[in-house]
Amino acid sequence: MEYFVSPFNQSVDLKFPTDITIYDTTLRDGEQTPGVCLRTPEKVKIARKLDELRIHQIEAGFPVVSSEEKRSIKAIVKEDLNAEILALSRTKKEDIDTAIDCGVDGIITFMGTSDLHLKHKMKMSQEDIVNVCMSSIEHAKDHGLFVAFSAEDATRTDLEFLKKIYKKAEEYGVDRVHIADTVGAISPQGMDYLVRELRSEIKTGIALHCHNDFGMALSNSIAGLLAGADAVSTTVNGIGERAGNASLEELVMALKLIYDVDLGFNVRIFYELSKLVEELTHMKIPDNKPIVGRNVFRHESGIHVDAVLEEPLTYEPFLPELIGHQRRIVLGKHSGCRAVKAKLTECGIEVSKNELCEIVEKVKLQREKGKYINDKLFNEIVRSVRGPVDI
Ligand code: MN
Repeated sequence: MEYFVSPFNQSVDLKFPTDITIYDTTLRDGEQTPGVCLRTPEKVKIARKLDELRIHQIEAGFPVVSSEEKRSIKAIVKEDLNAEILALSRTKKEDIDTAIDCGVDGIITFMGTSDLHLKHKMKMSQEDIVNVCMSSIEHAKDHGLFVAFSAEDATRTDLEFLKKIYKKAEEYGVDRVHIADTVGAISPQGMDYLVRELRSEIKTGIALHCHNDFGMALSNSIAGLLAGADAVSTTVNGIGERAGNASLEELVMALKLIYDVDLGFNVRIFYELSKLVEELTHMKIPDNKPIVGRNVFRHESGIHVDAVLEEPLTYEPFLPELIGHQRRIVLGKHSGCRAVKAKLTECGIEVSKNELCEIVEKVKLQREKGKYINDKLFNEIVRSVRGPVDI
């Protein structure tokens, strides 16, 4: 058995759409994380790895930002990956033409729709906004692109206006409408309501772009899928503006293991993908980050270690191998004989019972003195108890 989750998950009848599309925005929203700047070869490396995962769509960037950005998107298109390549565009002809010039499969064209954005950002009326959006959708469709229309700050937009603009976009042949929870300000229940309201009036695909300001990006994405949305945007390691976006690895693994919805992704490369993005963005993964964090499969407490050595699923919901991660037994203050014995066996060292007890005592003592029990210190402890050994 590779995983064991609560059987109660199956006690509720949940209906997910049969086809779920993940459009990953690590290379766009993720790159918009303050301080992150990816060069062309780095973006290409990440895109290749996302393709190896079998991601459906890659939002590769925002081509009008700079000539390097445009070069990066062109280079990704040239890779001829299985994933569809999308670019972000404002509702400006110039932006769409730049995206077309990059050779992308499609665009996500966006416009702020909340009163707050209308008043303070665009300084335009609702009517003007609708007209501008429709002419850009028309322009992009005329060039044969896949076109997604994203209402920025949708979750704080007047519902009637939101319905109106999405319905209009549908009339103009848009392929998908996006609900952007731009400042992560909706609840799963609010998302459920909003998606159901929209679903009752539009047939086009609905995508969710959730931010994690309240730590609810993942729950909001799942609530939206259950309410009738069929696409979700994610980023590797959950990077992105402010508190970041719904994390790709959390969403895919929660769908697969908790909800039994398998997207057919090659999840065994998740750890590798996560490390690659960590390295190239210099955004360190927190030790306790779900799925890919360093501590997710590390055990120190004697009670836990004893059980994990016997049966890992006692203290792990799934095995690290499933995502290419590794289990580590950490020696420290809470270690018991079994953990130390396991470490000694790993190193091919046999000790007597008395020696083992002495080593355990010394491990605890050294850790409480503030020392981290790395291999070098462990070697010293073992030597001090039973003479020279090679670890
Ligand atoms: Mn965003």
